[in-house]
Amino acid sequence: MNKILIVNANELVTCSGHEAKFGPEAMNDLGVISNGAIAMEDGIITHVGTTEEVLSQINQDDYAVIDATEKAVLPGFVDSHTHFIFGGYRADEYDWRLRGLSYVEIMNRGGGIINSVKGTDEASLDELVELGLKRLDSMLSFGVTTVEGKSGYGLYKETELKQLEALKQCDDSHPIDVVKTFLGAHSVPKEYKGRGHEFIDYLIDEVLPIVAENNLAEYCDIFCEDKVFSVEESRKLLLTAQKMGLKSKIHADEIVQLGGAELAAEIKATSADHLLQASDEGIKAMAEAGVIATCLPCTAFSLKEHYARARFMVDSGCAVAVATDFNPGSCHTESIPLAIALSTLYMGLTTEETISALTINGAAAVGRADTVGSLDVGKKADIVIHEFPSYKFLPYHIGVSTVEVVIKNGEVAFVK
Ligand SMILES: [Zn+2]
Repeated sequence: MNKILIVNANELVTCSGHEAKFGPEAMNDLGVISNGAIAMEDGIITHVGTTEEVLSQINQDDYAVIDATEKAVLPGFVDSHTHFIFGGYRADEYDWRLRGLSYVEIMNRGGGIINSVKGTDEASLDELVELGLKRLDSMLSFGVTTVEGKSGYGLYKETELKQLEALKQCDDSHPIDVVKTFLGAHSVPKEYKGRGHEFIDYLIDEVLPIVAENNLAEYCDIFCEDKVFSVEESRKLLLTAQKMGLKSKIHADEIVQLGGAELAAEIKATSADHLLQASDEGIKAMAEAGVIATCLPCTAFSLKEHYARARFMVDSGCAVAVATDFNPGSCHTESIPLAIALSTLYMGLTTEETISALTINGAAAVGRADTVGSLDVGKKADIVIHEFPSYKFLPYHIGVSTVEVVIKNGEVAFVK
């Protein structure tokens, strides 16, 4: 049956809206309906309201009915920043770090992004897809129904295109929707050492046109950072990509305050991500320009960095999104419960803000706020039933997934 009805939800947490939520008032408003119900047909939400209201509008005999008594029902999570397509793991390297080796020592032993570039080069397309699907299964179990995935472990054309193709195949064959981002400018290859601007020209001339013409990615992203790509190089690549039809994302101000947040505002990027060192002015400029501020607390946790100033960002009027940054190096985790714990305990976000950051604002960060990220009539039926009566259990059950049932496109895709 393609018609499902959920009734008697102690809390139906709608996160209602069709665009990003900016500032504290909007982000704290989750639109909770007590004793809620939600009906869906052919993958689309058709009715939202109290159980009494919805039952008065439909014939429940037409539906497969799920009783959500003593449960909280939320939109599926949108993990808006990940690098989940890669070959080769870096567990040894992580172990070296735990034993106190420095970044330089680890690089000298062959660690770093270059290690993943090698592993991704060596993996076949089929292997990358198989690994990707396995990782998506795990994400689904955490209640994720839309994920952004980046290339960036190829750097050069052939492997970059292989990664984008793997993302496409994963999107086609897994319930989770995958938003594809081209991140050829993830690192300066050693052949271009000291000549990052020439590598940007290579990407613009040799790779970007193929990506754009074949619709291989929706977004272009760049690692704008000291000793990687400058603000000028980032501006050049992202504006060129915009002209070719790719929207902008930017790894900004993670390690050094370089002005990535300001650049994101200037070029109207969809999101700027990391932002640990972002200036007050940059944050305010992002709020005014409507750029989503994506915080990645699991990365800061793993690298023992201080956290992005998410509290200040929300209070400055930003729309904050939270994502896992799942990747093979510094942050090998797809754990939404960890992201929730760190957001609430260490970034100073309220539980409500954290949920907005992982749903409607995550959706806005991948250009999908009109179709996912909330429980509104007409949106995709991406719905998660949690095993406790309130959304307040999400941070409270520290580090443990509360997900019981995941419905994706109106079909049950995961049951605990
Ligand atoms: Zn990243």
